[in-house]
Amino acid sequence: MKTLGLIGGMSWESSAQYYRLINEEVRQRLGGAHSAQLLLWSMDFAGIKQLQHEGDWDALGAEMIAAAQRLQAGGAELLVVCTNTMHKLAPQMEAACPLPLLHIADPTATAIVQAGLGTVGLLGTAFTMEEDFYRGRLSERFGLQVLVPDADDRRDVHDIIYRELIAGVVSEASRQVYVEVIRRLVERGAQAIILGCTEIMLLVRDEDSPVPLFDTTTLHARAAVDAALEALL
Ligand code: GLU
Repeated sequence: MKTLGLIGGMSWESSAQYYRLINEEVRQRLGGAHSAQLLLWSMDFAGIKQLQHEGDWDALGAEMIAAAQRLQAGGAELLVVCTNTMHKLAPQMEAACPLPLLHIADPTATAIVQAGLGTVGLLGTAFTMEEDFYRGRLSERFGLQVLVPDADDRRDVHDIIYRELIAGVVSEASRQVYVEVIRRLVERGAQAIILGCTEIMLLVRDEDSPVPLFDTTTLHARAAVDAALEALL
């Protein structure tokens, strides 16, 4: 089994889900007392959140590269960045660290294509919904047509992530906001919804959406196990 190097803490609420999902998946595939072999570098999210909102992506890139290098020095063989947003820095990380980085958008897009779906609604932070690093990968590499919520809905989706979900607050009122945002995306033609922020799975459930949900946390964790066990199975 390869040793996974997780970069988490963004937030730890979702890193805890990764840890559980990866271990459950390894136990399911290998049985018995098997569990995942991994290292986790967990950031203090307060500083990360501040730099994101100040737009200091150079400082964030340095933090992410330092984390990748620490994991490599500790024996990690594959990098798993447990947040969609911070994949904005994937190219810099790949240039600075030789470990393979399992990009979160790829298993998600692959699952959508395998399901025969082409038009998707994307929910995530404003960075993920509005910038090209994520939407561009989905459309250019996988041929998906990506719809994002309108400006008011994007603000609500973003604020609920940063004010509530990263702090472990899951409220019915916020779930209803997401339900309405999803409904409007489906009205515009979305055949599926990407939960493109690793905390959204804490809030939104399959029954909250009339179309299939593709949860990046679950799909990324599963892809990490695929890669870790590749040589074994
Ligand atoms: N976990 C979130 C994501 O998947 C947001 C936290 C962050 O900004 O990294 O994008």
